[in-house]
Formats: sequence, structure tokens, C-alpha cells
Amino acid sequence: MTTVSWMSSDYPIDNYDGPPRNVAYVDQLDFDSDLQPVKYEIAGTAPSSKILVLDVEILEATGREPYRGDVLIAGQRFAHVGKVPNKEALLADSSVRVFYGKGRTLMPGLGDSHTHFTWNGGDLDRLGDLGVEEHTLLTARSAECFLDSGYTMCFGAASAKKRLDVVIRDAINAGDIPGPRFLANGQEMARTGGELVGTITAYADGPAQMREVIREHIDIGVDQVKLSMSGESITEIRDAEDCYFTQEETAACVDEAHKHKKRVCSHARARDSVQQSIDYGVDVIYHASYIDEKGMDALERNKSKHVVAPAINWLIATLYDAEMFGYPTEKAEQVGYLKELTAADRAMREMHRRGIVVLPGGDFGFAWTPHGTYARDLAHFVDRFGFTPHESIIAATYGMAKLFMRSHEMGQIKAGNYADCLVVDGDPLKDISILQDHDRLNIIMINGRVHKAGVKEYVIPMQNATGVHSMTNEMVHLELQRPILS
Ligand SMILES: [Zn+2]
Repeated sequence: MTTVSWMSSDYPIDNYDGPPRNVAYVDQLDFDSDLQPVKYEIAGTAPSSKILVLDVEILEATGREPYRGDVLIAGQRFAHVGKVPNKEALLADSSVRVFYGKGRTLMPGLGDSHTHFTWNGGDLDRLGDLGVEEHTLLTARSAECFLDSGYTMCFGAASAKKRLDVVIRDAINAGDIPGPRFLANGQEMARTGGELVGTITAYADGPAQMREVIREHIDIGVDQVKLSMSGESITEIRDAEDCYFTQEETAACVDEAHKHKKRVCSHARARDSVQQSIDYGVDVIYHASYIDEKGMDALERNKSKHVVAPAINWLIATLYDAEMFGYPTEKAEQVGYLKELTAADRAMREMHRRGIVVLPGGDFGFAWTPHGTYARDLAHFVDRFGFTPHESIIAATYGMAKLFMRSHEMGQIKAGNYADCLVVDGDPLKDISILQDHDRLNIIMINGRVHKAGVKEYVIPMQNATGVHSMTNEMVHLELQRPILS
């Protein structure tokens, strides 16, 4: 038997279609308990609230195949999943809101591990000049867009202004604006001459300055910090294969952040930036495209301490969707994006094969990766990395809850967990791309509250032979909230 390296073009693509492997991968992930982020609560759900969802295919994200059943939500959490006791009494109780699933899929809310609420879907350079008031509104809109798209967990990957992520997080948690559960980042930190977008960067050179910038960010209340370690081909002056951080700097950043119980993320495309991230304990490694054999082995040995989030949609969209914005495919290929995408595909396949946790989250908010298209990433995991649709969903739900270090109460449909869930028209295990279609996300709930439900959800099916449907006083709910009508 000959061994073909995973880096070779002859390496076969994994056609696995058995039960999800990555529940076990996520389970072995073990961030130091000192790094536990604040367990934020979203205010405003009445403890007495009861929502009964009948007749749904329950996709738990525990690895179990979907099964038909009912779900009761009481207050913020799932009270019963599968079988709901005393159903008749609940149906007779006018204070219980009832949804008729009619065989649709009920699944956990999705998560994005590389979120930029503050990106404007356009020219990032201009973000530096955008007034803070306008920028705050833009950021709030992105947060709501994530929730509208079925996302209930977002992990901030950098904020264009220092406090924007933090302020929006706090407003969501206060119940002032709609949005997902969110862990806030600060500005990405880069060395002079290593920045990607100057106007939104926190500059620091050398270990001492870097420690200072990290302390400043922690003082304003970030949940994690971001190091911009490598280049990015589109800049044409900072290559994706160049690493700008020294070992001493990376070591100092991790030491300072961990000392303050905060985790560290890195923009790390270049081989050396990935290697340093592993060697010095950067918790969340973004991109990791040019990891080599040595890095892969080190990452596998340390896989309980890292997650990798490739943000692959950025590479794909830059290559194939940017033409109408004046950035043709030939240009993207020429500066290195095809080379990088090929390398990243191979690396992510191999990581998934070796049991390293790879999470979706796609660097959305650039012109050709617009807000609202987040679930493209889940399809890429299936189409390119050898994930089954079930594995892709588990990564985006249970895996994301583990990144929040709250997998015991989030990310799965389970009695006792927070009721963050979607009712989807169709079977995402048969076709993962339906999660990209907002019209199919019929009901979106977060923290036991309905964020979205169309008018037809309030039609109660009649049991008599006439086939006539009746609107009931359940319609009253429409006036009490602000659903996006589907
Ligand atoms: Zn990013």
C-alpha cells in the first residue's frame, strides 16, 4: 500500500456517508475552564411563556437521526422534546402558543464562528471614516440580519471600531435590539506594515505594545482578541503566505489574553502563522490554508485546544462571484486565490479526517460575501471538505455551542437547553442548501421567543370534514411582536 500525502492532488476525496463523526470531535474539545466567556443571558423572555410545536421532524444535532415528535418550550428553555406530556391540556390552554409543524424540520439555531457585524458589505477602507452613529446602526442591522438568517450564535472575529461589537452585544442581551447570542471581539491587531485594512486596525509592534493593546481591549469588555498575523492576497502587497508576527509576539499575546481569561483568534493563512498559532496556543485559528505536514501533526496532537474556521466562502466568492464588483476571476487567480483555495480544501478535508474541529463561519460582510448569505458556508463544508450534511449542521450548532463553552445548554434540541431553534420547510439533511433560503426558515426562535413566524403559522388546522381553516385569536400575537412576515 502506498501512502499518498493529503497535500497531493492524488489524495482521494473522502466519500463517507455514515453517522456523524464530529459529535465525538466536538466532545473532545477542552478549552481551559479559566477561559470560559461570560455566560450572557438575553433579557425579556417571560418565565410563564409556553410554546408548543407539534408534529416536527426533530433534528437534535446530537448525532441521532431525525424523528417525528413534539416540543414544548417553557420560558427560555426546552421543557420536553419528542414526547410532550399533557398535550391535550396544553392545547386547551389559550395562553400556550401552538405551532403546527406538519412534518417540517425543527433544528437548533445556526452559528457562525467568524462574524463581522461591523462590515458594510462594501469598501472596508471607508469604514474608518464612517461616523460612529451610522456605524452603530449598520452594526445593529447586521446583527438582526444574522438572526433573520437563522443564526442564534455568533463569534466575533473583529470589530471595525473598538467598541462596536461590545455595544451591540450588550444591547442584544438587554433585549433592546434583535440579534443572536454574541461573543464580542475588538479591532484586529497588526504590526505596522502587516495590516490588511489600515483604518480599522489596532497597531502594535513588539510584545510590550501588543500586551498593552490587548489590555485596552479587555478593559472595554471584549470576549476574545484577534491577531492579524498573515497577509491576504487581495492586498497585493501582503501575501497570504507571509507571516508578520514573531514567535515572541505571538507568545506574548496568548500569554496576556489568557492571563485575563480571554481567548485569542488569529488571521493565519501563512504556514508560519498557523504553526505559531499552534505552538503558542492561539485558541481559534482562522483560515489555516497553508498549514503543512508538520503543522497538521502538531494540530492533531493538540486538537483538544484549538478550533479551525477556514471562512472558506471568502476564497470561493473572491474567485467566482467578484466579477460584477470589478474583480474578475483571472485577477483573483493571478494574485493567488485559486492556489489558496486548493490548499485550504485539502487541509480542511484532512483536518476533518483527523478529528480536528473545523467550524463554519465565512467572513461575511464584504461586497461579494453579503450579509444574509451566511449558510452558504454549510454547503461548502459538504461540497468541498467531505462533511456529510449532518456533520455540517452539527459543526454549525453543537460545535458552535462548544466554542461558546456552553455546549451543555446550547446548540442541541434537548430538554433543559436554551430554546434557540428553527422550523425549516424541508429536510436539510437531504439538501443542505435549503438553509440559505430565508423563505424556508419558517419559524426562528431565540431564548424561547419567536423572532419570526409568518401569518400562516397562526392558522389552526380544523379537525372537521369541511377542510375549512380558521383564523383564531392566536392572530392577536401578531400585534404584540414584529415578525418578518414570510
Ligand atoms: Zn474576517
